Amino acid sequence: MSHDYDLIVIGAGSGGVRAARMSAQAGAKVAIVEEYRYGGTCVIRGCVPKKLMVYASSFAESFEDAKGFGWTVGESRFSWPDFMAAKDAEIARLEGIYARNLANSGVELHRARGVVTGPHSVRLSSHDKDLTAKHILIATGGAPFVPDVPGACHAMTSNELFELPEMPRRVVIVGGGYIACEFAGVLNGLGAHVTQLYRGKRILRGFDGEVAGFVQDEMIKKGVVIRLESDVAAIEDPTETGMVVELTTGEKIEADAVLYATGRHPNTRGIGLEEAGVTLGAKGEVVVDEYSRTSVPSIWAIGDVTDRVALTPVAIREGAAFARSAFEGELTAADHELIPTAVFTQPEIGTCGMTEEEARASHDIEVYSAAFRPMIHTLSGRDERMLMKLLVDKATRKVLGCHVVGHAAGEMIQLAGIAVKMGATKEDFDRTVAVHPTAAEELVTMKTPTR
Ligand code: NDP
Repeated sequence: MSHDYDLIVIGAGSGGVRAARMSAQAGAKVAIVEEYRYGGTCVIRGCVPKKLMVYASSFAESFEDAKGFGWTVGESRFSWPDFMAAKDAEIARLEGIYARNLANSGVELHRARGVVTGPHSVRLSSHDKDLTAKHILIATGGAPFVPDVPGACHAMTSNELFELPEMPRRVVIVGGGYIACEFAGVLNGLGAHVTQLYRGKRILRGFDGEVAGFVQDEMIKKGVVIRLESDVAAIEDPTETGMVVELTTGEKIEADAVLYATGRHPNTRGIGLEEAGVTLGAKGEVVVDEYSRTSVPSIWAIGDVTDRVALTPVAIREGAAFARSAFEGELTAADHELIPTAVFTQPEIGTCGMTEEEARASHDIEVYSAAFRPMIHTLSGRDERMLMKLLVDKATRKVLGCHVVGHAAGEMIQLAGIAVKMGATKEDFDRTVAVHPTAAEELVTMKTPTR
């Protein structure tokens, strides 16, 4: 049976775009359907604008630190509208590049909502009749999840934060994960009063415990008010002077904005998947095998919608693996082992491999851990430390985990991640000559185990 296309991709985010382009380059006739903007969460309202905001917020400390180096810095002022305009222009530029690259690869672009109507058919909100394809790829990503508390409608998520016309002066942030911690740092750096509420005993659950505790302490030192074991009971109706957030403890906090960052859910609602026979999991995620195949042979899924590892570079790898599997004749699985990643908290985290807790549970290990004041702060006078940590398997000497907290941790872990991925031993790290004077040299000069 002949189809309109070899592939219809639903969702033009990081994963969908990579899959579409690579499939088209392999000779497939490809259409991509996107209801919002090309680039997806990462480019439009995630990683990219977030990192620009992290940069924006970091200048305040730089102005202060400069004094210790002999500078007299004049009065400084941050304009949220000016920043937002510059950020929006950059995002529009990137979106244009995404659309151009798709078109240049021969992919047909449809700005429409796509709903799966069968194993080989998709209905577009812009078309009267269904389009058919040999393969359908679901790459619809995820969306913020907000728990059902009274007054939750007055809260915003990261989606809305990226569009705010004015900077909120007093912010309550709910959650202790990636997004909550990153925005706590951003808004605090820009001068807002930030109260972060987390239901657990320590933020950043799932990260190395020492790393999470270290970052929590440093965030508090920078001025973020972190309230542990607390949550929102209700948000009262906003008035002209802001809104009142009632905590589960009964206490009340006044705020101009409440930001929920309590996780993201896969975008699978209302796109016809279950009707088409695609199995969904408990969180609504598309259930896939290692090759990103769903329970329907012609339907595949990649990225956040599959709830495997919700990171852009992983979605991109899954998209590339899909294209190889479907159109280059080689069934290929994306590698999910030892993914280096950064969290743009302030201070920043770079991490690859096991946490100390995981390593201890499965191996007999040596822990090398060093916390120190980075050189820049000997003159700036800022009371900020860095943390470097290696977890080493005593039996094989392999570095099972590498964790960095501090300036440029993300940059460091990208490179240290290569060594960890290659299976480097502690002795391989030690044989590498230090780059002096840097903070990263600590990773190759830790002589005796801390524990
Ligand atoms: P996370 O899963 O990282 O964190 C969610 C947080 O919300 C946790 O602290 C969780 O608590 C808390 N929470 C969940 N449900 C509730 C509830 N009902 N009431 C109160 N608190 C609740 O999600 P994020 O939204 O921060 O980020 C989503 C994903 O996006 C991340 O997992 C990550 O993969 C990706 N991301 C990556 C970034 C990067 O690479 N730098 C940046 C931003 C996002 P508990 O710990 O107790 O479950």
